[in-house]
Amino acid sequence: MKALVLFSGGVDSTTCLGMAVEKYGADEVLALSVYYGQKHNKEIKAAEKIAAYYGVRLQTLDLSLIFADSDCSLLSGSKNEIPKESYAEQLAHTNGKPVSTYVPFRNGLFIASAASIALSNGCEVIYYGAHSDDAAGNAYPDCSDEFNEAINRAVYLGSGNQLKVKAPFVKLTKAQVVKKGLELKVPYELSWSCYEGGEHPCGVCGTCRDRAAAFKENGVADPALKGGSQ
Ligand SMILES: [Zn+2]
Repeated sequence: MKALVLFSGGVDSTTCLGMAVEKYGADEVLALSVYYGQKHNKEIKAAEKIAAYYGVRLQTLDLSLIFADSDCSLLSGSKNEIPKESYAEQLAHTNGKPVSTYVPFRNGLFIASAASIALSNGCEVIYYGAHSDDAAGNAYPDCSDEFNEAINRAVYLGSGNQLKVKAPFVKLTKAQVVKKGLELKVPYELSWSCYEGGEHPCGVCGTCRDRAAAFKENGVADPALKGGSQ
């Protein structure tokens, strides 16, 4: 295999998967979905459907024990509610810290785990879907350009120059990611972004708001909201 894609089943990583499949072909791409103790399994179910759509191998990994002591609001063990504000509104009262849906060092942990799996499968690159909106205001510091450069260097050195880490959207906004995905005909109707695990996306959590704005900016309706396909 050539490429491993960190794959949550959301908009960004689904676009990443579409790009990798176009570049390498489905047989050369391994998708990795990590369960980290989310309050629901909608993302994993979406990841399964999208991996099947593309015909790529999907590997799953359970890292939930690592977050057992975290109070991150996305986690099933947390009493904190998922905020119903935009990220900009949330950042106004976090005192410079990440938002409450930041999972402690998630991308660092996932990329390190992915590096071991990628090397075992002969992959030469790991892709993940970090983009500039997520890094803005330090909402998710492990989505920043600087973090990506640092972890790429660490993985490259630590793998004996065999493996690179690429965040192809790290300088793009989410709207630009969606533009790219629409060009690639990514099956967004199968994806799931909402932090809540309801039958339909809640429409008010940070990621629902971001997703809606990204599709609106591209002048298209979110395909996942049509006809209750979730
Ligand atoms: Zn939502």
